[in-house]
Amino acid sequence: MSNEFKHSKQRDALLTLLKSVTCHPSAEWLYNELKHDFPKLSLATVYRNLSVLCAQGEAIRLDVGDGTVRYDAHIKDHNHFFCKVCKSLSDIGESETGGIDAMLAERYGVSIDSHSFVFYGSCRECNKKLNS
Ligand SMILES: [Zn+2]
Ligand SMILES: [Zn+2]
Repeated sequence: MSNEFKHSKQRDALLTLLKSVTCHPSAEWLYNELKHDFPKLSLATVYRNLSVLCAQGEAIRLDVGDGTVRYDAHIKDHNHFFCKVCKSLSDIGESETGGIDAMLAERYGVSIDSHSFVFYGSCRECNKKLNS
């Protein structure tokens, strides 16, 4: 088995895993999940494969400012909500922001290909706990 083959197999597994979750995991989380199947996998390889996937447009990286970068294989235009209490990152408000590109393009004379907002606050689950 060549190295090249091994690397792309790991990358495939990485992408499949990333597509199967909605929690927008960090590289460390992905590494911990994958090392059962790939005992020789290193965190550096996970990072390298993630940058390849991002460069190929198969994944996006999300820096929410909590010190860890999170990854998402759902590459269609969508927005995120980051809970400052439990650090969860979820998808939010896709339809509500759909018209904003055209509005801003007209107002500022720019051409907009995509947008990505991160909203910050506390999530529904945390609000329940905080209010109980
Ligand atoms: Zn929360
Ligand atoms: Zn997302």
